Amino acid sequence: MQRLRATVWAIIILGLLGAAAWLIMNIERLRPLDLKAPPDFLTGLHLQRLKMDAPRCLAVLDEGNVDAQPATSRTMQNGCGYDDAVVLRGDPVGYGGAVTLRCPAAAALVMWQRHVVAPAARQHLGTEVTTIRQLGTYSCRNINNRETGRRSQHATANAIDIAGFALANGDSVSLLRDWDDTGAKGRFLRAVRDGACPLFGAVLSPDYNALHADHFHFDMGLYSVCR
Ligand SMILES: [Zn+2]
Repeated sequence: MQRLRATVWAIIILGLLGAAAWLIMNIERLRPLDLKAPPDFLTGLHLQRLKMDAPRCLAVLDEGNVDAQPATSRTMQNGCGYDDAVVLRGDPVGYGGAVTLRCPAAAALVMWQRHVVAPAARQHLGTEVTTIRQLGTYSCRNINNRETGRRSQHATANAIDIAGFALANGDSVSLLRDWDDTGAKGRFLRAVRDGACPLFGAVLSPDYNALHADHFHFDMGLYSVCR
């Protein structure tokens, strides 16, 4: 009797695990990601799923009216390179030049700009962001520029560093200058940091360590941190 009960439980648990795996694999077919709609509790799962489906990721950008085109691949060598990146030209909100990012990270960046940065700028600063000032995406290097250790997510164009924002009213917000501001700019910076966390894997701000005193680091790696 006990063996029968254990068998029934094992079947139920395996069935539930199978159903969860099926849902994850088919989430894009059941309810496609819409970059024009605000993120919800499934958005993070969608973005991770897009890592396994490059054509679908490009279609998501296209359906979301994102000004992007596939980037020329860079053959993987010494842990550096990419084959599913896009070039984001930054329209209507610029990035101070075109940025090359792997497609799921680009989709997360667009969602962040549209559904986190824009409303936070209106709420806290009473204006629009015209440019997200970024410091770079692809860079063949290790974490924290160390001689040894693991490759950075930047080495596969899976990360972006953001230093500040230019505003429509002529003002600007800088991580280095305004992170400790106790007024509207400080509240804006914390709101956009916190709003990035459900979209990206790792979100590092000046609160994380001194190396990030002047920028946010966002990446779509497997390591999850929000600080
Ligand atoms: Zn970085």
